[in-house]
Order: sequence, then C-alpha cells, then structure tokens
Amino acid sequence: MTKNYLAQLVGVFGDPIEENPTVVMMEAAFAALGLNWRYINFRIREEDLAEAFVGLRAMNFAGINLTIPHKVNALQYMDQLTPNAQLIGAINTVIAHDGALTGDNTDGQGFVTSMRENGIDLKDKRIVVLGAGGASRAICVECALAGCSSIDIINRNEARGQTLSDLIAERTPADSGFIKWEGTARIPACDILINATDVGLFPGTGRPDIVYEDIHPGMIVQDIIPNPANTYFLQSAAKMGARTHDGLGMLVCQGAIAFHRWTGLEAPVEVMKRALEQEFA
Ligand code: NDP
Repeated sequence: MTKNYLAQLVGVFGDPIEENPTVVMMEAAFAALGLNWRYINFRIREEDLAEAFVGLRAMNFAGINLTIPHKVNALQYMDQLTPNAQLIGAINTVIAHDGALTGDNTDGQGFVTSMRENGIDLKDKRIVVLGAGGASRAICVECALAGCSSIDIINRNEARGQTLSDLIAERTPADSGFIKWEGTARIPACDILINATDVGLFPGTGRPDIVYEDIHPGMIVQDIIPNPANTYFLQSAAKMGARTHDGLGMLVCQGAIAFHRWTGLEAPVEVMKRALEQEFA
C-alpha cells in the first residue's frame, strides 16, 4: 500500500488551525491498524490554496480534509465531485486516485450515520435546523436525501438561510421553510432539533438564543458541536425532557467515512471515538 513512499500522507488544509483534534483521531486510527500513514495539519492561507493542491499532487498525497475557509474555494481544483458534494456546494474531503482528485463532503453523511447508530430513523421526520453555514448545508442535504419529510431552517442571515431552504425544497424530496432568526427564536413543532451554529463551541461560551420551553419530551435534540460534548444547549434541552445527542458521533463518523475512502479499509471507529474523548476530556 505504501509502495515507494516513506509514508502515505493525508491531512487537513485550514487557516487558522491551532489544534486539530482530527489529527489525533486519524493518527490513532492509523496506529490501530498498523498503517504507515500520517495525518498532518497544514495552515494554508486562502490565496495559497491553488499552490497547496499542486503540492498535494506532486507529493502523492492520498487525500486531504478541508476546513474553514477552504470548503467552497477548493471545488475549483477538483477533477470531479461526488453528486452529493455537488449538491451541497462544498467539500471537506479530497480523495486522490491515479492522479485525479475527487471532492466529497462527509459532514452530512457522518451526521446521518451517527443518527442511525443512535437508533434514529430519519424517514418521515420533521427537522428544524439552527444555522445555515457549511455544516448545516451538508446536514440538510443528507437528511433530505435520507428521507426526512421536512426541514425548517432558522438563521440570522436571511440570504444564506433562504438559499439553503430553496435548495432543499427544489432539489431534494423534502419540504423546507425558512424562518429569520430575530431575537429569541421560537421552535416550530418538529421531531428533531439540530444546533448547526457555532454557538457553544468551547466550554463556557453560551447557548443558541431560542425559546427552550418549545422543547418537549419526545423530541430528539442534537448538537453538532463536539467540544464540549455536553453543551449548554444539550443540557438545557435535556432539562425540558428531550432525548439529546452530542456532536462527537458526527465527528467520528465523518472521519470514518473519509478514512475508508482514502485507505479502502473499515475505520476503527471505537479507537477514533476514544481518542477524541481523551482529547476533549
Ligand atoms: P459556518 O461559519 O459556515 O456557519 C456558522 C453558522 O452559525 C451560520 O449559520 C451563522 O449564522 C450561525 N451563527 C453564528 N453565530 C450565531 C449566533 N450568535 N446566533 C445565531 N446563529 C449564529 O460554520 P460551520 O457550519 O462550518 O460550523 C458550524 C459548527 O459546526 C462549528 O461549531 C463546528 O465546530 C461544527 N462542526 C461540527 C462537525 C462535527 O463533525 N461534529 C463538522 C463540521 C462542523 P449567520 O449565517 O446568520 O451568520
């Protein structure tokens, strides 16, 4: 598998990346399977992305992950996109094969997989999503393709929220509505509520400004923020009697899908999860 290379390389392009828990998760996965692979963190400025991809090709990387701010700009450097990445309009994973780069988006797929692993069937579910950024786009598209009946999007920025809602309504089988987020947001009746904003990322940073009394027992409430796992948002939802799930599962599952695309091997999911839990402890 490693042939003439000292080690097969994958990594993450982003800016700024001070600490990236994905590095720890992927390195643990390679070690567990005895692979001579490395996952390396690269700080790439926006204006240097084209050259970074030239370097990636020259150095025979097996692939790369992409984080903010490169997820959309990177599309132009791909030889092909998966159909889902094309619909989402952003990529977080690149697979290099025989000199060709394929752009994929495993964020939403990871979300849907982690839902399934938590025993949640998305079919015919009514979903409300807070936020309309990159992660929200990926989640909304994949949930719609997985069979949920409707996705309502609540967002401050009207253009971003409406565009995402139109994408879901026009290009997937699910219905969708947009609600502009002004003041404290009311939550319409739904089966699953998802926080896809970055409010609450890092301990002690608050919670989304919503009417928590709209959450009731029987609802599933999911945060995608992995750090801290038990966010203030989830704690508040649990107090209202909802069943809650944290963002660690999505992070592991999106990484496991990328790992499989690069190596062709099943990812050691439990090892990856433990590595992340230790990182965030
Ligand atoms: P983006 O910057 O693309 O989107 C951020 C979203 O949050 C926007 O919709 C923005 O609204 C909204 N937002 C920000 N601040 C507020 C606020 N004070 N009140 C209401 N809405 C707000 O980020 P991403 O989509 O890439 O990431 C979002 C989060 O998801 C991050 O915390 C990231 O860590 C997490 N994530 C988790 C993953 C996992 O595997 N668990 C994978 C990917 C991301 P507006 O449009 O109005 O500005």
